[in-house]
Amino acid sequence: MRIDRSARAPTNESVPARAVATLCVDLAALVANWRLLAARAPGADCAAVVKADAYGIGLEPATRALAAAGCRTFFVATAGEGERLRAVAPRAIVYVLEGLPQGGAFTLAAARLRPVLASLEEIGEWGAFGRSIGRRLPAALQLDTGMNRLGLSPREAPAAAAAAQDIELTLVMSHFICAQWPDDPRNARQIAAFEAALGCFPGAPASLCNSSGVFLSEKPHHDLLRPGYALYGGNPTPLCPNPMRPVVRLEASVLAVREIAAGETVGYDGVWTAARPTRLATLGLGYGDGLPAGASSGPGRAGAEAVIGGYRCPLVGRVSMDFVMLDVTDIPEAIVHRGASAEILGETIGVDELAARSGTIGYEILTRLGRRYERRYIGG
Ligand SMILES: *Cc1c(COP(=O)(O)O)cnc(C)c1O
Repeated sequence: MRIDRSARAPTNESVPARAVATLCVDLAALVANWRLLAARAPGADCAAVVKADAYGIGLEPATRALAAAGCRTFFVATAGEGERLRAVAPRAIVYVLEGLPQGGAFTLAAARLRPVLASLEEIGEWGAFGRSIGRRLPAALQLDTGMNRLGLSPREAPAAAAAAQDIELTLVMSHFICAQWPDDPRNARQIAAFEAALGCFPGAPASLCNSSGVFLSEKPHHDLLRPGYALYGGNPTPLCPNPMRPVVRLEASVLAVREIAAGETVGYDGVWTAARPTRLATLGLGYGDGLPAGASSGPGRAGAEAVIGGYRCPLVGRVSMDFVMLDVTDIPEAIVHRGASAEILGETIGVDELAARSGTIGYEILTRLGRRYERRYIGG
């Protein structure tokens, strides 16, 4: 496997890495995940959602790898992310999910970004800007079928279609609120509402599916898939085994091993008490590196786990900013030593498991991946 250190994301360059914790991003797995999603909808194109620094793994390396694999359409949240993407993918089609901020038309058009327009006002502004430069500019239209976040209500669809005469309407889209639960009746209702509204936009390409939507039995794939989470190894089908390949591997090395007596406590506030003579290993990562404070364990509450030499061991006590402690009493002594490597995320522990054990969602685990890790990109 080739290690490309030049592919490190620019956001990390200003922050000195802690050599004791390494984040390895497998770009070959990312591409394999994109291909797997694309293959589920042979009649549709598969885009990639790379907002929030490609869910924390690095916008530039992720975009380069996906574009090289044939991905042509990308979604970012902000114009600033779009400009970063444009710099590494000059020919990509780029949609900006936050739409058209007031007065933002010039910035978007200058980088050839397409806003996902979410109101009649935004459609009007984009159309007027296009007229002022003598061109109908491309954009997507967001219909809100239940999220109540951004987008036109289906009732406004006829007015939106009329207002869109001044723009080049390249996509009509909406967003699922719970596609990860396939039996939830709200999925079918959103699909029906979206399809009914599409009647106002004859001939316009359509898009409804996030990662989980791709796996719905109704196959509401339309013309373009918009997966994010599943690309990065998250499980889009939480009721079934994860069909995706892990993309991130987070390892930290053991800084110290110590023995404590029964009755001693571990970490801030002493929330975890050893019930037996206990061997502890201290790792050099903490909530300052994106390990959730909720990964801690305390009375009556198990926390997250790590893997050392194939053995699982629990995090004990509260997660510190820069450190976390493991109970390694049950692991053969020869395996746990200063410098031994502990997996926090990887083949054994996926983002969904760490999230569940930390009381959060995998999306948050990924987007908070810390800046102090030494980042390695492989398989690019
Ligand atoms: C974030 C986002 C996606 C991707 O969703 P995943 O669940 O990560 O696949 C798709 N569409 C919109 C509008 C989004 O905001």
